[in-house]
Amino acid sequence: MRIAQLAPPWITVPPEGYGGTEWVVQQLCDGLTALGHEVCLYATGDSHTAAELRSLFPRQMPDQIGVTAFDSRHVSFAFADIERDAFDLVHDHSGFLGIAFSRYLATPMVHTVHCAFDQVAAGFYAQFADAVGYICISEYQRSMAPPGMRWAGIAYNAIAVEQWPYTTGKDDYLLAFGRVCEAKGFHHSIETAKRLDRRLIMAGVLQEPYRDYFEEHVEPHIDGEQIVYEGEVSDARKRELFAHAGAFLFPITWPEPFGLVMIEAMACGTPVVAMRHGSVPEVVDDGATGFVVEPDDLDAFVAAVGRVWQIDPAVCRRTVEERFTVERMVADYEAIYRRFLAR
Ligand code: UDP
Repeated sequence: MRIAQLAPPWITVPPEGYGGTEWVVQQLCDGLTALGHEVCLYATGDSHTAAELRSLFPRQMPDQIGVTAFDSRHVSFAFADIERDAFDLVHDHSGFLGIAFSRYLATPMVHTVHCAFDQVAAGFYAQFADAVGYICISEYQRSMAPPGMRWAGIAYNAIAVEQWPYTTGKDDYLLAFGRVCEAKGFHHSIETAKRLDRRLIMAGVLQEPYRDYFEEHVEPHIDGEQIVYEGEVSDARKRELFAHAGAFLFPITWPEPFGLVMIEAMACGTPVVAMRHGSVPEVVDDGATGFVVEPDDLDAFVAAVGRVWQIDPAVCRRTVEERFTVERMVADYEAIYRRFLAR
């Protein structure tokens, strides 16, 4: 197949730091190319891919995330280029614009929904329910979608398992990792560490809209000893933090559409303790790869963190090797493309 992959325009593929969608796009492009498909990736010029790279913007611009002037230009550049070429399929990951203007494209399009269906997203997708073929990244995400969406399939996200260091030798700290915002429950992680008198290392990007949350609920607790915040760390440091943590804490407060960080922890043999929101029960097997407690039940959460010694790191790793590999994700997408084009 000749496939055009349309990434968002703000973050390089693969990302240097934050960027779940960009990791998925990178692995999908490389995997499809390895299977012999002709893949063209529309992404920023500093991206690295086995596919052919076509770009309007030479470099990433993470400080401009959400500024529509940039995705408007990126998507219209890609559409014009796609129209001059002969693709079998366009696979859009770029947010809303690709869908909104898909009717002007002769090539069939599928779109992976990478976000949660909050009010704004649900309104958008309801308006464009049958514009393209939609792909979800968890059953829970699909269950929250507005009615009538034209689903082409489900493809759980994945990671390159072999690139995540597996270790059974854990240090004494607990880990909270991700975008620092209320949805990811950093305040619950802090409270948990304090109640258990354990060390907590937090790391992850602080985006401007969440600065108030950080200043009110996170920053006052940071003492640099028991409660540590390392900011946005390098890729190498991230893998080290996941590998050596005693447990990965995921006390989220939102309908997580997938949650790559859970499988990143599991690949390192690190148990996940999570609150049951969104995709969590589809990713973490309660009692086997971690513990899943009811939302907002912090007592149960704290108790579960105290029991992580019961979790076998080898089972965590094996679960990712069985269910969340890049090979499986690429095969899922390939099957979805074929079904969609044969419809
Ligand atoms: N990530 C990172 N640095 C950060 C924050 C996140 O490298 O400061 C990575 C994280 O390891 C994961 C991805 O970005 O691979 C985030 O994806 P996830 O599905 O966990 O959450 P999202 O932020 O997309 O809701």
